[in-house]
Amino acid sequence: MKNKIKKQKKAKNKKGGGLSVKKENFSEWYSQIIEKAEVTDLRYAVKGFVVVRPWGAIAIENIYDLYEKELQKLGHKPCFFPTVIPEKNFKKEASHIKGFSPQVFWLEKIKGEGKLALRPTSETAFFQMYSLWIRGHRDLPLKLYQRANIFRYETKATRPLIRAREFYWIETHNSFETKNQAEKQVQEDIKITEKIMYQKLGIPFLALKRPEWDKFAGAIYTIGSDVLMPDGKVIQQPSTHMLGQNFAKVFNVKFKDEKEREQYVWQTCYGPAMSRILASVIAIHGDNSGLIMPFCISPIQIIIVPIYTSKNKKKIINESKKILKKIKQLNLRADIDFSDKRPGEKYYEWELKGVPLRLEIGEKEIKSKKAVLFIRDTKKRQIISISQLSKLISIGNQFDKRLKQKADKLIKGKIIDCKTKEQIKKVINDKKIARCNFCSIDKSGEKCAEIVEKNIGAEVRGILANKKEKPKGKCIICNKKAKHIVYIAKSY
Ligand SMILES: [Zn+2]
Repeated sequence: MKNKIKKQKKAKNKKGGGLSVKKENFSEWYSQIIEKAEVTDLRYAVKGFVVVRPWGAIAIENIYDLYEKELQKLGHKPCFFPTVIPEKNFKKEASHIKGFSPQVFWLEKIKGEGKLALRPTSETAFFQMYSLWIRGHRDLPLKLYQRANIFRYETKATRPLIRAREFYWIETHNSFETKNQAEKQVQEDIKITEKIMYQKLGIPFLALKRPEWDKFAGAIYTIGSDVLMPDGKVIQQPSTHMLGQNFAKVFNVKFKDEKEREQYVWQTCYGPAMSRILASVIAIHGDNSGLIMPFCISPIQIIIVPIYTSKNKKKIINESKKILKKIKQLNLRADIDFSDKRPGEKYYEWELKGVPLRLEIGEKEIKSKKAVLFIRDTKKRQIISISQLSKLISIGNQFDKRLKQKADKLIKGKIIDCKTKEQIKKVINDKKIARCNFCSIDKSGEKCAEIVEKNIGAEVRGILANKKEKPKGKCIICNKKAKHIVYIAKSY
């Protein structure tokens, strides 16, 4: 215990006011880091609305870019829809309005238009137009997406990037001829999440089919992806929804099949939130010195820090500029820190911002045509020859691989099989995820889930969506025959 306190003090005494120790107080660490690293600014002072500064915005842009490239490759096309949705659209699908209406911001004083909602999600905007655009089976599949900010009147405590009243996402809205095609899209959506969030950004997640009582309002079923955060709570990341024909029927989205028969389309939607993904990146990879940005999304991948005296300043800056030019020719994002701060201060700042690689260039380095390369995650230095700067690409790729491996290690051993309520309680207290037999995630299991929530303060998050798991035995709560193996965790 004493050691812990000592460590904490040590961290707090660091330059620049110091950061909280991530392991000791994740919540405080997170709040400090996003402000100090200039990701967000809370001084706008409207609950749930934050200003995202360039360092955060460029990272978000880069995540958008990864996603949009992947979606377009898979046949999704971009479009832009209005931010407002007429009340009459919104009210068409009964369970949709029921689920979303407590969260809607309404605009009430627009002349002649009736009430308009600020979109909390855009099914009811897209599908009005789909009913006009889709005529025959040749118009299908129709797979459109938009990048958008959306608005939800959150009543729970808000946290920057994690839970906000306005956030940045992509929503895809897809229509198909058959149920089978729609189900395939749902599976493909899980693979997109896997590719971007896990393979690229190094964030492990569980793809969970949500219980009946926790699905998207208006959907047949929902598959969410849960990421375990360092404080032991899971955060919902991209989720994909099988809408069936629920919306098609109320919006009259029909097509004529090959035999000229009129049919309703089958629909799905998928919603990765860029700001929330960035929150997980920050939470999972960061350390006590600050952010650690994955190489593939870092606004600056390589920062050059020139080290000079008043005598050799001009020469070293010139050489640094030449090196910067070479790095930019490799299509890498790089910059030089020209500020008047001392090298040590510059190091501290770029480490706080999580820049993956730093090149230190001084008199000695220029003479030997080599530079010192500092690597943010391992905090190790190595020498790189100026003639071999193209190695930075593979060093960057290895950087991201290491982040993923480290995150894998962290999650390993955090999912614990439980046989009793007491065990679940302990697992949740230990900041882990419980896995156990459960009667059912259909409506019939809701009572047991309520008991879990009341007695343990955790939620039944669902069953694995990409792997079948067969239970043997009885529901941990009601003792009836278990139909499912569920995952239980606290959540954001
Ligand atoms: Zn039960």
